Amino acid sequence: MMKVEVIIVAAGLGRRLKSKIPKALVLLKGKPLLAYSLKVFENHPDIDGVVVVGADGFLSQFSRLTRSFKKVRALVAGGVLRSDSVKCGLKAISSGTGIVLVHDAARPFVDAAMIDRLIASLKKNKAAIVGVPVKFTVKRVNRKSLVIEETPARDLLWEAQTPQGFHKDILVKAHAKKFKEEATDDAILVERLGGKVKMVMGDYRNIKVTTLEDIILARQLL
Ligand code: C5P
Repeated sequence: MMKVEVIIVAAGLGRRLKSKIPKALVLLKGKPLLAYSLKVFENHPDIDGVVVVGADGFLSQFSRLTRSFKKVRALVAGGVLRSDSVKCGLKAISSGTGIVLVHDAARPFVDAAMIDRLIASLKKNKAAIVGVPVKFTVKRVNRKSLVIEETPARDLLWEAQTPQGFHKDILVKAHAKKFKEEATDDAILVERLGGKVKMVMGDYRNIKVTTLEDIILARQLL
């Protein structure tokens, strides 16, 4: 079995939460958001190490939190964009690692079962992500006029979640390439290189905490 390490990106500032502290440090039932996913990876037997990417300027707060997790190998400062933060994390992955998972600290409900499914898929595929079939009808609109240009068939649409997993060489290659458009996840970088990325069932509970309503929902889900 190849060595598996996880990068948890937690350097986002939480502007949409209207928070003064980074989103990953915002408390959910008395515990920082980041602590939830850290615990899941810490307890998963297939995870060999964790790299946490924290917000520059708040590293002492992050360090206080990550100290009690034995698998955390490094805490590094992130960058302006999410993809910059992943790049910072990649540099701290240990050399013997074959598989790298990338996870958003903003998703506290990652669980062992979806990590199992993802790692199982990575035995056959070089890139795989968790996601769920969309429940709603999605429209693509004209950026200026907002007139609908396309309604993709719903049964082909999945919502991307994290964790997303990659054989290390592919992820390093994908992040080394400069693309004009912003990357909102890591799979998109591999897709742009023409690489195959497999979709694996995630969980509808695996929500991303972005706005204040999400905090309310997350409290209910706990
Ligand atoms: O901003 P968004 O909610 O899409 O961020 C997703 C994840 O990426 C969050 O866990 C956030 O902390 C992280 N992030 C980061 N560095 C950035 C922006 C976002 O680590 N510059």
